[in-house]
Amino acid sequence: MSNESTAQTTNFIRNIVIRDLESGKHATVVTRFPPEPNGHLHIGHAKSICLNFGLAQEFGGTTNLRFDDTNPLKESEDYAQAIMADVRWLGFEWNELRHASDYFQQLYDFAVHLVRTGTAYVDSQTAEEIRAARGTLTEPGRESPYRDRPVEENLDLFQRMKAGEFGDGEHVLRARIDMAASNMNMRDPVIYRIRNVPHHRTGDAWHIYPMYDWAHGISDALEGITHSLCTLEFEDHRPLYDWFLEQIPAPCHPQQIEFARGNLNYTVMSKRRLLQLVEEGHVDGWDDPRMPTLAGLRRRGYTPEAIRAFWAEMGISKSDSIIDMGVLENAIRNDLNERAPRTMAVLDPLKVVLDNFPAGETEWVEAAVHPQRPELGVRKVPLTRELWIERSDFMEDPPRKFFRLRPGGEVRLRNAFIIRCEGVVRGADGEIAELRCVFDPDTRSGQPGAARRVKGTIHWVSAMHGVSAEVRLYDRLFRVPNPLAEKDRDFLEFINPDSLGVVSTAVVEPGVAEGAPGECYQFERIGYFVHDVLDSKPGKPVLNRTVTLRDSWARLEPKP
Ligand code: ATP
Ligand code: MG
Repeated sequence: MSNESTAQTTNFIRNIVIRDLESGKHATVVTRFPPEPNGHLHIGHAKSICLNFGLAQEFGGTTNLRFDDTNPLKESEDYAQAIMADVRWLGFEWNELRHASDYFQQLYDFAVHLVRTGTAYVDSQTAEEIRAARGTLTEPGRESPYRDRPVEENLDLFQRMKAGEFGDGEHVLRARIDMAASNMNMRDPVIYRIRNVPHHRTGDAWHIYPMYDWAHGISDALEGITHSLCTLEFEDHRPLYDWFLEQIPAPCHPQQIEFARGNLNYTVMSKRRLLQLVEEGHVDGWDDPRMPTLAGLRRRGYTPEAIRAFWAEMGISKSDSIIDMGVLENAIRNDLNERAPRTMAVLDPLKVVLDNFPAGETEWVEAAVHPQRPELGVRKVPLTRELWIERSDFMEDPPRKFFRLRPGGEVRLRNAFIIRCEGVVRGADGEIAELRCVFDPDTRSGQPGAARRVKGTIHWVSAMHGVSAEVRLYDRLFRVPNPLAEKDRDFLEFINPDSLGVVSTAVVEPGVAEGAPGECYQFERIGYFVHDVLDSKPGKPVLNRTVTLRDSWARLEPKP
């Protein structure tokens, strides 16, 4: 909605694409988004999705969705399905759906080619020995005693590794590059390992699986990817990416370009940690509305438009930074401000009785669905003798600047009229049970006193027509900006104990109670809410707070 045009803002990768199209290096742009199906996508992945799909879209190119499924132990078809749903929800459609496993045979054939040309060998050292011989940043590695195995022996062993003749870890296939290379990735990297486990797509056809670096660049080349965009941690892998493609008869040589990961504070983003939060029950699943996953954000009430606008606004750069959660929250706030219908809900109700309003009668007042968007029309809100107002909107003995209701004081009921509090009725426990009030009929909309001003306006819901709702007040999952900052403390210690508050006393306008799962509202004066997709039922609404009206965390933090 708001500023999607900024998706077109210049970034260095876009400039490279423009240059390559203008120079004729490429006739079109082909990108790919390559998730590993070992968990759900998170807001960081959305950055990569928006970049890859966005660039191709802009220049009339295409994007493949490629599952990087080379690690059968952690991957599953369920995750793959969830990832596809998330990409589509974000608003993107892939050209071809591919899997690294589609290329297992070609990857193997290319590895055989390396062996034949003397640029790969079967190493029979243990993983421990290989690690120990790798050297350090300041010391070269040591060459494996198996490094000069004859080609025929390598071919035979590699073929038997494939056939499943060996146990896990007995041998690996390594590229024969340079054990003294200053870039550690070039020190004879492992390209195949034995894993005698079935794969969720290829079953038990394979006993060896390719390593990421081997599989990734070749998959890119086989798909005719022009620009292979990845995050900065792969910068040191680029020489290897290029080396592999130079050693084999690759159909083309894609350009790997790195950009900074998207990071947010007050959350964690690695799939490993997200999985831990789910498995240990710290949250209620991958789609818990506090999770930074796309499934969680969706359930929380985030829209694809807000997420796309957020990443467009953040841009693409080559230096790592951490974005304040408040910026993401602002993106959804801005989006919902434009789209969410307005309604009134009372979370902590206190009864108001209007003594001069006829009992049993209902007056239907008209209220704008959206004050800035008259085209959305009006809704009818029932007004009755007994109403609920927010308990915090009344004080018996208020301080000077309290402009809401007090004994003898006046306040305007939003969309209705001005009321005056004439008295307080206490329950047996001494607590205030209800307020006795009178209303001024002259201050209704269209009446001569409609414009009469009082200092406060409060929201309300008819006690006769209002519907009870469960309201879930979600907040940030962690109470500190960086839960991983302290090395000797577990990030779980920093979970915000107030990240979920369940309000069972809420009352909403009857129209809201009939809303469909996923429908969102602004509860006036409170925040943005959405019907929970799993638990909300017609007549038994459950609403999730997407975001408050204002950033309540900003004032807690010292300004830089
Ligand atoms: P995680 O560490 O969260 O598990 P990952 O990089 O291992 O992430 P993949 O499934 O391999 O997850 O990622 C798919 C694509 O998304 C990769 O190209 C990766 O670089 C990109 N990606 C992952 N996290 C981010 C992020 N925070 N910002 C930008 N791109 C990301
Ligand atoms: Mg990964």
